[in-house]
Amino acid sequence: MNSPAPGFDADVVFEGFLFDHAPDALLVYDFDAGRFVAANPAAAELFECSTEELLQLGPEEFHGEEFETLATTKIRLDAIALQVLAGQSVFHEICLRTAKGRERCCELRLEHLHDPLRRLIRASYIDVTDRINAQIELHKRKDQLAELSQHTQSVLDNVLEGIIVVDSDGCIQTFNKSATNIFGYTADEAIGSNVSMLMPEPDRSHHGRYMSRFESTGKARVVGVGRTTHAQHKSGRIFPIQLSLSAIQRRGRPMYVGLIRDISEDQEAQARIERLAFFDTLTGLPNRKQLMDQLADVRARQLKSRDHAVLIFADIDQFNSINSTLGHAAGDDLLCAIATRFSRCVNEHGMAARLGGDEFAFVIEGLGNDYEHALKSAAEWCQRLLNLSQRGFGLQGHDYRTSASLGALVFGPSEHTAEELIARADLAMHQAKSESRDTYRFYDAKLGREVIRKASLLNDLRLALPRKELMLMYQPQVSVNDHVVGAEALLRWRHPTRGLVSPADFIPLAEQSGFVIEIGRWVLKEACASLAQWRRQKETENLTLAINISATEFRSPDFVADVTKAISDAGVDPHCLKLELTESVLALDLDDLSCKLSELKRMGVGISLDDFGTGYSSIAYLRQLPIDQLKIDRSFIVELEHNERDETIVRGLIDLCQILGLSVIAEGVETELQRERLVACGCRLLQGYLTGAPMPLAQMSAMAETSGVPVKENAS
Ligand code: C2E
Ligand code: MG
Ligand code: MG
Repeated sequence: MNSPAPGFDADVVFEGFLFDHAPDALLVYDFDAGRFVAANPAAAELFECSTEELLQLGPEEFHGEEFETLATTKIRLDAIALQVLAGQSVFHEICLRTAKGRERCCELRLEHLHDPLRRLIRASYIDVTDRINAQIELHKRKDQLAELSQHTQSVLDNVLEGIIVVDSDGCIQTFNKSATNIFGYTADEAIGSNVSMLMPEPDRSHHGRYMSRFESTGKARVVGVGRTTHAQHKSGRIFPIQLSLSAIQRRGRPMYVGLIRDISEDQEAQARIERLAFFDTLTGLPNRKQLMDQLADVRARQLKSRDHAVLIFADIDQFNSINSTLGHAAGDDLLCAIATRFSRCVNEHGMAARLGGDEFAFVIEGLGNDYEHALKSAAEWCQRLLNLSQRGFGLQGHDYRTSASLGALVFGPSEHTAEELIARADLAMHQAKSESRDTYRFYDAKLGREVIRKASLLNDLRLALPRKELMLMYQPQVSVNDHVVGAEALLRWRHPTRGLVSPADFIPLAEQSGFVIEIGRWVLKEACASLAQWRRQKETENLTLAINISATEFRSPDFVADVTKAISDAGVDPHCLKLELTESVLALDLDDLSCKLSELKRMGVGISLDDFGTGYSSIAYLRQLPIDQLKIDRSFIVELEHNERDETIVRGLIDLCQILGLSVIAEGVETELQRERLVACGCRLLQGYLTGAPMPLAQMSAMAETSGVPVKENAS
């Protein structure tokens, strides 16, 4: 025992050896002396000073608390010491500060050490600093882990994919919120159950076998491979999922992590996109895109089979009149009813498609190797489809009858593309439409050549304006007493290689392509410039100038604005401008028509109905619309010389115009006899080669100034 204090008891010394070698720090405190009287080496080590130093000191040196003075520490410790001396043993976990100022945590046991002479207290300290630090560290780690696992769970719960972890027995270990949303089971219901409950049959029954095979052979159908499969909801509903499965090791055991995405909506969206891409939304029939694909397939099959097929195009006759008289809803009903009939008829023999509007197409295969025989079968199919379109439809309580125009093309294995086949069938259909309607026509090569000619003409026509190849000729309109009252402006195209192209040839083309609107604006501007020129001369200032307006131009929403602008730009009198509309304009929407005509009329522009008698205009229209003049078509005038019936018609027309307050002009007057008969019928205005062929502006102006001899058109 180190440094026994003077007078130290022999019994105590007897224990010296144990005292010196104890692993715990042992000290003896003399209460009355106020200092330690014995300390072992472990105590010196704990307090970080020598035992000699220790024996000079009391416990207050090491047990001071923050803000305590040495004296108050001593008082506090004396109180504890007195308890111990009174027989209470004290066991504390305390912190002490070593001589070097370091903190140590200790378990302190205080016992009264019986001594006849002195009040001694034995203190044993066990240094638990490391253990406590380890505990603190452990708690910290636990908190961190708890935080981490909370974080992981919230990550798991917030991912859109369902995450399911299963052990090698297929027992579910983890089931996140998305998995609950996808499968309908709560995590509590799922965890601990076998994952096969999420699978429909037969996967459910095969699952166990699949797992054991994977474990024994490592062969996987799913593990490591993303794939689309089916799953079963708690309700029993089976739905498609995208599953990717990975094998992991957790605590040395294999586990499987499945990432699951419910793709029902994706598949529905995909199906919807496909429906939109390949089917017509109104009738549900395949659309043009699918027709093209079908044609490509047929052509591929034909290369092997050498079989013939037919492509038929159908257009419902006068469908627009149903739309405008019964409304668009009725038009839609009709299209749906026809579509159902058509597709039932074609059924397993081929495809019925809707190309848009009132156009349908059919591809029928299996017409045999012999072309003649195939043509016959195709004709039968056309007749069948025609019959279907003629049968009545119940529309808004009425039995509505329609007809269709069909174009057919029989084709065998050939080098023609789907587009070329379609263009040919379309052409044949237009042929049927223009010839008689309610009929079918087969494509023939002559038609094809005509198309090529028209296409190149249209191409050239687009260049005609910038190249200044268009010009106007003026044909006089003359009163019966030979005064020139005005003229009709007639368009001419001086083609660089084809020579003079007739408007009868290129205007219909320009109409089909919509290019006529641009041409029309040019004509309008040119005509107004001529009127402006006439305005400057007294002899010509009152002349009227008629220009021809096609239905497409008139239909343009900008038409009235274009006319207004041309008139005001040129600064001419609107009363001198006359618009010649053909009867085809009357087939346009009646409200739009009368609205535009009234506006033009209000401005003072004259309206003349061209080629009267060749179209469908009815007396009712003539009464309803603000028209100024009827132009009797040349076909009636030609017949005037030979046909008494025509004279009666012309007379009737002229009488009618008088009743309606309309002026009348006869066009295409070529002979004196025609003129005489027209005058006899009451016609006061004439136009034709007899009174003057179309001529250049200068010549027209000169003729008007003198109201002189008519001049023939120069055809160069
Ligand atoms: P349209 O308006 O009925 O014009 C009358 C056509 O008859 C003109 O043919 C004219 O040259 C011709 N013609 C005049 N007098 C006689 C005659 O005594 N005998 C015969 N056989 N024919 C006569 P053109 O100039 O070839 O015009 C043909 C059609 O082209 C016009 O018929 C008109 O519908 C259209 N057209 C002409 N110019 C224009 C235009 O600027 N715009 C539009 N949209 N169409 C035009
Ligand atoms: Mg005309
Ligand atoms: Mg005419």
